[in-house]
Amino acid sequence: MRPIRPGDRGPAVTEIRTVLTGLDLLAPTAAGADEFDPHTERAVRAFQQSRGLSVDGRVGAETWRALDAARWRLGARTLYHAVPEPLTGEDVRSLQERLLEMGYDVGRADAIYGVRTSRAVAQFQREVGLTPDGSCGPHTMNALRRLGRKVVGGRPQWLRESDAIRQSGPTLVGRTVVIDPGHGGTDPGVVVPDGSLRWTEADLVHDLASRLEGRLAAAGVRVQLTRGPSPEDCLPDVGRAELANSLGADVFISLHLDEHVNPEAEGVATYHYGTDNGVTSATGERLAGLVQREIVARTGLRDCRTHAKAWDLLRLTRMPAVRVEVGYLTSPADRARLVDPRFRDRVVEAVVAAVQRMYFPVERDVPTGSIDVSALRAVVAAGTVVD
Ligand SMILES: [Zn+2]
Repeated sequence: MRPIRPGDRGPAVTEIRTVLTGLDLLAPTAAGADEFDPHTERAVRAFQQSRGLSVDGRVGAETWRALDAARWRLGARTLYHAVPEPLTGEDVRSLQERLLEMGYDVGRADAIYGVRTSRAVAQFQREVGLTPDGSCGPHTMNALRRLGRKVVGGRPQWLRESDAIRQSGPTLVGRTVVIDPGHGGTDPGVVVPDGSLRWTEADLVHDLASRLEGRLAAAGVRVQLTRGPSPEDCLPDVGRAELANSLGADVFISLHLDEHVNPEAEGVATYHYGTDNGVTSATGERLAGLVQREIVARTGLRDCRTHAKAWDLLRLTRMPAVRVEVGYLTSPADRARLVDPRFRDRVVEAVVAAVQRMYFPVERDVPTGSIDVSALRAVVAAGTVVD
């Protein structure tokens, strides 16, 4: 859909304004107005910021879905595990966050009422003496309210994810890594003409992905790419996440290049799942930190740090997932490096080292830039760590 943007008028704008007013982001004085005025734009930006979406002040498909889900306040309807079309919404997210705070295992607060959420609700119901039917109606809501927030700030999902990683040991052999070269097909991503040449993000990240595939496969990893070099259509992010989930991936790495109107904007940034209210994927955050630090150390790209985002790609993937923006194609300095295959090999080495470090216990982790990726197999076989 074409994004709804400042200056637009019509019933869709009225809808947007109504939801934003309900969220206290927009003053209710001009309720019913149908103009996308500067107040509306400010409110949309604040909303996007709070949801970890890209902040552009327009309502495209992703922001629209988030707004639609935000209508639901916890307690306003009965929540249950619906098949095949699960219930989604802000009320589901609030419930999940509440359960997580109380120490129940719902995985991520992804705003989808799936099996895991239903199981956590049933467990809660059993413990407070209610019928464990896994749905959240008035009785369960009352029990939740009565108990209040007992375990605030424990972030139990952090511990669970890290435990699972620790128990699986330091080897890469047999793991599944899904690599996601961004864009493709009808969507070339960032395009920069260069004399008679034309650099596209889609082509460059696919090259990075296939190099990475080779290196990881050599270390005994099962690797799957989300697309070939020239697919017919561009798979949306939701489809990419579903693919990674269906393959039971252990790690998901999405590769992109960035762009900016200012040619001086340059550097690498890595994104992991998280929202403004502090809900985050601990392992995603750790992987993002490792990827970011290894790339900066091994390539000298400017460090644009790691950031939490609630993008579909990061929210819907059930494994540690990161999106790396490996430099700006619009920066002459970054571009000169990115078009050099030897430089791309260094980026790939860095990502492999980061994935390997994910599986070292934290106390045995090694200094950034120190893993000799070509000796990985020997390291793994010997069960020791280089430093
Ligand atoms: Zn991109």
